[in-house]
Amino acid sequence: MSSPLVLFDIDGTLTRRAGPHHRDALVVGVRRVLGVETRNDNIAVHGKLDTEILLEMMANAGVPAGRARAALPAIYRAAERYYLRHVPVLRRKTCPGVRRLLYTLKRRGAVLGLVSGNLERIGWKKLERADLARYFRFGTFSEMAPTRSGLVYRAVRYARRRGWINGASRCVLIGDTPNDVEAGRNNGLETIAVATGLSPLGELRASRATLCAPDLTHPSIRKWLQGVFDHA
Ligand SMILES: [Mg+2]
Repeated sequence: MSSPLVLFDIDGTLTRRAGPHHRDALVVGVRRVLGVETRNDNIAVHGKLDTEILLEMMANAGVPAGRARAALPAIYRAAERYYLRHVPVLRRKTCPGVRRLLYTLKRRGAVLGLVSGNLERIGWKKLERADLARYFRFGTFSEMAPTRSGLVYRAVRYARRRGWINGASRCVLIGDTPNDVEAGRNNGLETIAVATGLSPLGELRASRATLCAPDLTHPSIRKWLQGVFDHA
């Protein structure tokens, strides 16, 4: 029997309206390390990696690219420290249908992982505060690869190397932006796009996801789930 692998994006897919703490943490991180004032309220952050957002913030503030890159590891740590201290309880900030789907997937033996543009400690803390972390066995995060496709690649390889999945396993990525869909498809995964983030359903359909749904409570998700386990 081959366990399916189901990879989840975080923002807009598992949680939403989680407050300004994450964006603030990036600004504070740059301030603490470089003493430079930056902003991200003028940047379209959804679907982007934290690293990309930080580099864009610093470029906009006139920080030379080399200096910005060299400062990244220290900025990650400063941003994570800020977030860990300030993040509130997020138990009511989960997207519709998330808890039930995770419970069902886990109970039926799926391997669950994260592929997120969040910095690692921010991502895990967010899920911990939303009471969702316990469903996930592992994850790949912003600082682990330069692109989201690279993160998906690393996640699948990680699960394979540990023997959790094999060549016959169904591998699925669930996300809320065309960036997620593209990253999954680039790695040959099935993709599910849910319109619980900022991308409207029409935009997700145009991205040619395997399945598009308004949210994870939609009957098409249940049907898909049935298919996954029928073939396992
Ligand atoms: Mg997202």
